[in-house]
Amino acid sequence: MQKFLEAINNNASSEEIASIEIPERYRAAVVLQEEQEMFESLPSAEKDPRKSIHIQEVATPELAPDEAFVAVMASSINFNTVWTSIFEPLPTFGFLKRLGKDSIWGKRHDLPYHIVGSDAAGVVIKVGSAVRNWKPGDRVVIHCNYVDDQDPSAHNDSMLAANQKIWGFETNFGGLADLALVKANQLMPKPKHLSWEEAAVNALCNSTSYRMLVSKNGADMKQGDVVFVWGATGGIGGYAVQYVLNGGGIPIGVVSSKEKASLLNDMGCNNVINRKEKNYKFWQDENTPDESEWRRLGKDVRAMVGEDPDIVFEHPGRQTMGASVFIAKRGGLIMTCAATSGYMIEYDNRHLWMKLKAIKSSHFANYQEAYEANRLICRGAIQPILSTVHKLENVGEAAYQVHHNLHDGKIGVLCLAENENMGIEDMEFRQKIGEDKITMFRRHNA
Ligand code: NAP
Repeated sequence: MQKFLEAINNNASSEEIASIEIPERYRAAVVLQEEQEMFESLPSAEKDPRKSIHIQEVATPELAPDEAFVAVMASSINFNTVWTSIFEPLPTFGFLKRLGKDSIWGKRHDLPYHIVGSDAAGVVIKVGSAVRNWKPGDRVVIHCNYVDDQDPSAHNDSMLAANQKIWGFETNFGGLADLALVKANQLMPKPKHLSWEEAAVNALCNSTSYRMLVSKNGADMKQGDVVFVWGATGGIGGYAVQYVLNGGGIPIGVVSSKEKASLLNDMGCNNVINRKEKNYKFWQDENTPDESEWRRLGKDVRAMVGEDPDIVFEHPGRQTMGASVFIAKRGGLIMTCAATSGYMIEYDNRHLWMKLKAIKSSHFANYQEAYEANRLICRGAIQPILSTVHKLENVGEAAYQVHHNLHDGKIGVLCLAENENMGIEDMEFRQKIGEDKITMFRRHNA
């Protein structure tokens, strides 16, 4: 891939890039099928991505007509890479096996290693014969919605497609590598004012938050809505807060440290709850929820903004869902996309139906939603929330940081890019937006 790197750094033309031979092997972060039982008797917290993620050379797959190879300059850690690396709730090799039965092209994915990663920024280096809108040399970011567009259920809202998958989690050949294999309809233009690592961290989390809050498929938030955001400086929360502020809503951000609270203030979110300081105990023991603690949180919210939330942005899952259902206003919406602390959920249904609340689910975003969310990044209306950067060799450690909630925002990973701050094409626009806004999470973590 070295030749591609040199060509990209020299701003080579599309023809020059197209003339470079695709290597037979490339460097990638993988988990191994033979190790999928390595953590079996351990509690989640002791399952260590540093032991299960390996950097190794892998064979380059064949390119299908509707696909592209991308030279990955940078990628990012998402929570799904944590799940894959600790083999929870299930090893991801089952997904690859199922995809393998799909078609001859699907068969390529069923391998004894899984190349992980669901985000990337880079350069298209080869396109399949059916690709029309992209060409070698195009600078792109990749979204992770992997759908078969010949399935009728994939039209209208492709997240409802029967065979919808998340690239790099339910498919192989993901973004934490020097090369990625993607469908052409996963490509989006790279924001010109961002470096490779700033551009690489957005697509998955930003698109998810866009669908959850802005899209009609999600909460369809309106001006003045009070939106309660768990994990407000985390991956999806950091974008959620920006959408609430941009859309004229009133965010209440929950975080677990003074440093994160100050970061939220800098983002323009003045209603901040430090859950560590408040020491809410929503569970008396593992099986007994404590309604009085839900009430305490509800009172804290009312004291802060004078009313109950129209929308609760929910993802911690078992630990918080009872409280989330309780604090939403009469007729309010609990918007959920995840269950980090446990997926078997308990809440008091009386608080839901007697107050006509609704729980709505969401999962990533369709191509249009991902494109709209990316467009807002390109226009400087949503900022990347890159906090720290690791090299590809260090992906295990980066995933460990996310697993143990030791990070803010997003962790970027340099793949082919040798250094940070490369790949910025439009410095004038960057300066117009303001370095302080673009690098806010980075500076807070310096
Ligand atoms: P993240 O970067 O780790 O952020 C999550 C935040 O949640 C943390 O910063 C933490 O903030 C808070 N948190 C963690 N455990 C909590 C608990 N027990 N109670 C209250 N708050 C807690 O992760 P992320 O990227 O935002 O992803 C969050 C979840 O969404 C993950 O489970 C991920 O797999 C899922 N996800 C789903 C989709 C989808 O398409 N369905 C897309 C993206 C992410 P504080 O400690 O500061 O409070």
